[in-house]
Amino acid sequence: FMLLTRKLIEVRNILMNIDHNEGLKLPSIVVIGSQSSGKSSVLEAIVGHEFLPKGSNMVTRRPIELTLIHTPKSKEEYGEFPQLGLGKIHDFTQIQKTLRDLNLAVPESECVSNKPIELRIFSANVPDLTLIDLPGYIQVTNKKQPETLKDKITELCQQYIKEPNIILAVCAADVDLANSEALKAGRKVDPLGLRTIGVITKMDLVEPEIGASILRNSDYPLHLGYIGVVCKPPLTKSITSSPSSSSSSSSSLTHFNDQKALMRHEEDFFRSNYVYSQRGIQVGTGTLRRKLMEVLEENMAKSLFSIVSAVQLELEEARYQFKVHYNDRRITAESYVAETIDSIKHNFKNFAHSFGKPQVRHEVRTMLEQRVLDLCAELYWTDNKINYLPKATIDDIYWQYKLDLSSASLTKSGIGRTSTQLVVDVLMANMEKLASIDPLNNHPDTSSKVLKFSNEILRNKFHTTADQVENCVKPYKYEVECTEQEWTDGVKRSISLLEKELENCEKALRSIKNSLGKKKLRAAIKYVLDLEKESAKRREMTYKNINTINTNNVNENENVINNTSNTTNNNTSNTSNSSNASNASNASNTSSNNTTTNTAATLGHGDLSSTAMISNVIESGDYFDHRVIHFNPKVVEKAKEAIFLRDRLMILKYRLAALKSRQCKSQENKQYCPEAFLNMIAEKLTYTAVMLIQVELLNEFFFQFPREVDNRLVYDLDRKQILSFAKENPRIRKHLELQERKRKLEEVMEKLNYLVRRQRDIEGHGSYL
Ligand code: GDP
Repeated sequence: FMLLTRKLIEVRNILMNIDHNEGLKLPSIVVIGSQSSGKSSVLEAIVGHEFLPKGSNMVTRRPIELTLIHTPKSKEEYGEFPQLGLGKIHDFTQIQKTLRDLNLAVPESECVSNKPIELRIFSANVPDLTLIDLPGYIQVTNKKQPETLKDKITELCQQYIKEPNIILAVCAADVDLANSEALKAGRKVDPLGLRTIGVITKMDLVEPEIGASILRNSDYPLHLGYIGVVCKPPLTKSITSSPSSSSSSSSSLTHFNDQKALMRHEEDFFRSNYVYSQRGIQVGTGTLRRKLMEVLEENMAKSLFSIVSAVQLELEEARYQFKVHYNDRRITAESYVAETIDSIKHNFKNFAHSFGKPQVRHEVRTMLEQRVLDLCAELYWTDNKINYLPKATIDDIYWQYKLDLSSASLTKSGIGRTSTQLVVDVLMANMEKLASIDPLNNHPDTSSKVLKFSNEILRNKFHTTADQVENCVKPYKYEVECTEQEWTDGVKRSISLLEKELENCEKALRSIKNSLGKKKLRAAIKYVLDLEKESAKRREMTYKNINTINTNNVNENENVINNTSNTTNNNTSNTSNSSNASNASNASNTSSNNTTTNTAATLGHGDLSSTAMISNVIESGDYFDHRVIHFNPKVVEKAKEAIFLRDRLMILKYRLAALKSRQCKSQENKQYCPEAFLNMIAEKLTYTAVMLIQVELLNEFFFQFPREVDNRLVYDLDRKQILSFAKENPRIRKHLELQERKRKLEEVMEKLNYLVRRQRDIEGHGSYL
């Protein structure tokens, strides 16, 4: 018959799951009272079970939101902590222990927390009620407790005793009501006592006449009145100490019997004192229960219409939002997963289309061209004799050997592995890009899964691909033949390659010049070259010391020149190779203080001065400590780099001229054009590698990836995983949540509408009667 309370408790539980909107609050009974006033005993008497943690040391530190659910058809009695998901707990001592743990988890330094513990108790022996147990008011704080504890408790209680809640103010009969914290707090928010019920505990501790006068409430009147209770078994025949029940005291049945005995004791107590049967006096736990149910039902009815309009408003808002943001489009987590998988595959397909043979060829070619450049630099451009190459005879063993060495270095450098690895790296880099964009960017776990299995597929194909490539380039390790066209292409390619290299060198040199300034760079270069000469000199002197016999300065100087760096050598040979006209222009440049040649001029000057100085050193028999200028090591590094770049530029220009000359037009002269020859080989290697990588690696990867997406991402996902996957995407989470909210509000609204109709019927009948 308490249908309203029951239905509204259901509504309340649904609403609690969607939000804690103030407007949607349904009335609950809030239990307040001083510590040791008997609060817990009263609650347990109502529930019919001992389940609250006991102890002197502040055992209630968090509000306990207790929902009692009357289950008349079931013999089962159990509790549930919906926040913990522990399932049904039939053992009430276990509930007590859990509550104790949850409370003690709040550190003593904080003492109270306003985060409520939710507990539901299902039983045929409980009425439908929602009760909230709060920490008891305290008089004094102990040393470990914070000073502010009293205020904190008061504040917490104040929060809960607001409308529409019903206040259960628990006071002990043996304490003057004037001192009751509970009544004081209640009076502040409910001065007429319209929603406050006074519970006077420990009635057995006062004389019946005094007890009755408290209950008559003439001093501190409450509209709902006072109810006297006795919630403690008589000391003489304490149930827990009786041998028959102590052995099984943890069983809930025994507790219930304890509680039954308790109620009998209470009944006997009140019956034995005639004053308590007087009119206007309310006593007993049974009376209290009935009163609570009545008052709650009444207040639920009062709240019904405000709840209905609040829910209606919320629902309208949710519907509006749903229309505005999502155009009333319903989604499901499942459809989102399906769409996401499709779009992963779609993105992959797009990538696969854009990454074919030409792209692989570009990657492999770029790598091999770099290798060709490195080989040329290592074997040719740093060779002092390179300038004599065009004039060498065709059967010059030296150059023939060099050409064989360089082509072997290229073909035997492990093309299989490096080219395969290169493509694997490029593919993985692209996969990482895919993994970081929509939709995978919303799903970090899935994204790393995708990368993991992409990598696995590629790893699986790596060795076979590398081996196949290596096998197919094997013939080139012995001999490379080419057509005239291939040769011409090689020449063209090498020219453009060298031109690019030239440009890079120029750029690098310019940036050094810009960063240091021309003057500083010039000085630093001079310094570096001087140092080089000095060390050459030192070597020479050691040599001289070994062969002590008469050395003259002229010889010295010659040796110095012979031993200077390649730079000077190249300089000299370049000049000697160039025409008279360019010699003349060099000379004029020197005098007009101009860039490259200018540096050479400074060099010349440096030569002289350092030679002079060294002769001095030799004469005085002293070692050099003439470095007046001290250069920052970084500047020295840059100068060395500049010297290197300058030399490289020179040689590149020279080699470009050679490649463009008639000599390189025919492959007969390949040994004069190693750059072209190596490029031609590189192109052949590229062709072979790309063909096999395409077949063995790329095609396989493109085929397997979408299958793995199905296998590893979609199959064996359960409903919960699907939902949590979908909610990883904040946009979808919002959508789903709003949708869910709307659905729940609609469900609530349906229940409420039913209640409203029913309530109208009742009221209609009432008016007829
Ligand atoms: P709480 O701190 O307000 O929760 O109070 P408790 O329920 O733990 O009770 C404090 C003490 O008062 C305990 O020792 C109880 O046994 C005792 N007590 C509670 N109710 C009664 C009662 O009706 N009569 C007597 N004599 N003692 C009671």
